[in-house]
Amino acid sequence: MSLFSDLFFEARIIAQSLGDYVSGPHLRLGVTGLSRAGKTVFITALIDHLTKAARPSLRRGKNPLPVFRVQAEGRLTRGQLEPQPDDAVPRFSYENHLAALHGPGGDTDARHWPESTTQISELRLKLEFERPNGQTKALTIDIVDYPGEWLLDLPLLDKGFAQWSRETLEASSAKARAPLAEEWRRFVDAIDPKMDMGEETARRAAALFTAYLRACRAEIYAFSVLPPGRFLMPGDLAGSPALTFSPLVLEEGVSYPSHSLAGMMERRFEAYKTHIVKPFFRDHFVRLDRQIVLVDALSALNAGPAAVRDLENALSDILVAFRVGQGNLLTNLFRPKIDKILFAATKADHLHHTSHDRLEAILRFLTARAISRAEAVGTSIDVIAMAAVRATREAMVSGEGGSDLEAVIGVPLTGENIDGEIFDGHAEAAIFPGDLPSDPKLIFQAGAQTYSDYRFVRFRPPIAHRNPEGVVLPLPHIRLDRAFEFLLGDRLI
Ligand code: GDP
Repeated sequence: MSLFSDLFFEARIIAQSLGDYVSGPHLRLGVTGLSRAGKTVFITALIDHLTKAARPSLRRGKNPLPVFRVQAEGRLTRGQLEPQPDDAVPRFSYENHLAALHGPGGDTDARHWPESTTQISELRLKLEFERPNGQTKALTIDIVDYPGEWLLDLPLLDKGFAQWSRETLEASSAKARAPLAEEWRRFVDAIDPKMDMGEETARRAAALFTAYLRACRAEIYAFSVLPPGRFLMPGDLAGSPALTFSPLVLEEGVSYPSHSLAGMMERRFEAYKTHIVKPFFRDHFVRLDRQIVLVDALSALNAGPAAVRDLENALSDILVAFRVGQGNLLTNLFRPKIDKILFAATKADHLHHTSHDRLEAILRFLTARAISRAEAVGTSIDVIAMAAVRATREAMVSGEGGSDLEAVIGVPLTGENIDGEIFDGHAEAAIFPGDLPSDPKLIFQAGAQTYSDYRFVRFRPPIAHRNPEGVVLPLPHIRLDRAFEFLLGDRLI
């Protein structure tokens, strides 16, 4: 990066901070996690609760957010959406997502989970509250939703095309990946990088490379993600020439002419870094103050020890982006000054509450390495098990031999198959989800009886209640208020 762009970058950050100063207390909250971790559902639930929390008429019985102090102490006076501040970023489609959860047009029978995150989006929320001394204040919160896959691109900024090609080819030779990489490897092994560039060859190589990355993710490594992150989560760049490149088998020490295939691929790799990776980190990531990382640990547990190991690696890779004070100058330039990170295991409503602490312990175990690094640089970190939307209720069900089992009851999604019974999206089912191990280390043991029983059944969202005036009330949740307190509580006193 040139001195000029460094200075320009610094100036922008200062301008931003001044802007914040002028417009009052302000917090940028990043919401991330791998695809399907629960980002869209979390943000929708957060906004629904916080825009309704100050109105007791929008409650059913007791306070739904008892751990969120500003609310529990009756000091939250107003929560409202404000115009989205960044013109170049799509607005988080809150109203559509909430309508999906409730059932479009008030038709509860049509309720469904909203469309998942595929690219960055933002929304601004303003909370008005009373300080304990009675003074009135406001906090503006910019919620930034972005795919966790994109964070994996940060290390690319320190790498040239030759190094990235070498590392990616090496990784593809690993035993489990090799069969998935076969077609792509056969193609790139057979092409001469010195040959004159050809769009058709580049497109074919990129298509096979993308198919390999997707297969790694989908087939064995349910949670594995290799950069470039946009190849898996292209956002609005799907099909764009910016993603038309692939690693090549290059000879050490050879410099390839610019009109060669290698020259062209290198230019595209550099363009990807300059025009896609850097702007995301510079314009969005570096400005975050707080971060929640959502993790679908239950799906990984359901898929078995290899998937859990994969999830651990993916989390560790993602967290490299948050590690402060290490790496070289360039990557440090793009690291935000985040003072709090919350890791949240989502979809805890699939478990009986007696297992929630165990789920939390498992996530703590999976993130232990990354957490110790971040804590060493003064970032405060917490781990919770939560469900932004609780789709189940609990019950005791008699098992074999008359013993009582702790079950969860919900409406399985249409087509879910439970012990051979196919569900129609209307009938309820009582599920005994199985126990999670009391010792988190056991999750890596294949066949460990303690968790191999664990069964993941996908449920429909619950039917929302209305107050007497017909306003739809926020959906039930599990420990969402703990997340709010950790992420926002200290800024609301
Ligand atoms: P994203 O890709 O991170 O935006 O993930 P989503 O928020 O779209 O969630 C993916 C899927 O996970 C949803 O379609 C739901 O099936 C499920 N899900 C997410 N959050 C919850 C939750 O709190 N409870 C339950 N039961 N399911 C959830």
